[in-house]
Amino acid sequence: MDEFSIIDKYFKRNSFIGDDAAIISPISGNDLVISTDCMQEGVHFLKDDEPHALGHKLMAVNLSDMAAMGANPKYVTLTLGLPTADDDWLREFADGLFSLANKYDVQLIGGDISRALHISLSLQIIGYVAKGMALGRRGANLGDDIYISGSLGEAAFFLAGKLKNEKKITPNRLEYPEPRIALGRSLAGIANCMIDVSDGLLQDLQHILDLNRVGAELDSNFIPYSAELKKLPLKSKLDYALTGGEDYELLFIAPNSRARIIEKISRDLDIPLTKIGSIVAGKNVIIRGMKKIPKIASRGFKHFI
Ligand code: ADP
Ligand code: MG
Repeated sequence: MDEFSIIDKYFKRNSFIGDDAAIISPISGNDLVISTDCMQEGVHFLKDDEPHALGHKLMAVNLSDMAAMGANPKYVTLTLGLPTADDDWLREFADGLFSLANKYDVQLIGGDISRALHISLSLQIIGYVAKGMALGRRGANLGDDIYISGSLGEAAFFLAGKLKNEKKITPNRLEYPEPRIALGRSLAGIANCMIDVSDGLLQDLQHILDLNRVGAELDSNFIPYSAELKKLPLKSKLDYALTGGEDYELLFIAPNSRARIIEKISRDLDIPLTKIGSIVAGKNVIIRGMKKIPKIASRGFKHFI
């Protein structure tokens, strides 16, 4: 099967695809928000991982970046590097990718395919947000509240089980993370800044602290642990929840005056939003209720050390 047949059979689902480039029209009064995220065999996943889950996850991690900006995702382009053109693999991968894309009304509008030495999956995503309303990582002020959505640690817990070849539960959040699109959009104009937790809460929070030259004080009693972690000893719970990545929850900072409206958003969307601490002077994270915080080296995922 050549690449043109692959495109026709699995990816051409609209008339954006077919010319040398796709044409989209900007929406007046909006900013374009653009991001890309890739997944490489041997680094992010293994050759035998299920293609349906890979398609879902590639879409989910990109959607999560839109969520973290408070943006409304619209279009994606897909770049595939494949050692072989395997029909079953491509069908399942496309199924995983499109089922999540359809849920959020996101269109695949183009891409590229190349033979490659190992599987390489890359998605570019384009979204919209009302002019000036995108939520970046700047804007944390002394005394502000720090919130996290949902619960933490499930993805890291399943990764540890997978590495130990334990029987897995499907679907789990490691393979099927759910991007917080509605929440991200609701928080535009409410939160001061936001980030999605992909590399571990401590590491992702530190990005915000560094940019804003502030510190954070967290209370270990308020960390929302995923159900899987509840029976573990405190140290491993904290380890999974604070340094494990890939839960794709939203971490955001807001002034106290927004507490009421944040509670309302939580109720309306039926998503727990937990205040886990506050912004303080300094440059690091202090954790109340914990003698020693995990060493920097183990604070989250890094590609290069
Ligand atoms: P070119 O020769 O200019 O690189 P291609 O033949 O690669 O063009 O692509 C033809 C059309 O198919 C283009 O519209 C391109 O965006 C689209 N396309 C190529 N690969 C993919 C893919 N993996 N997913 C979606 N669309 C794709
Ligand atoms: Mg091309």
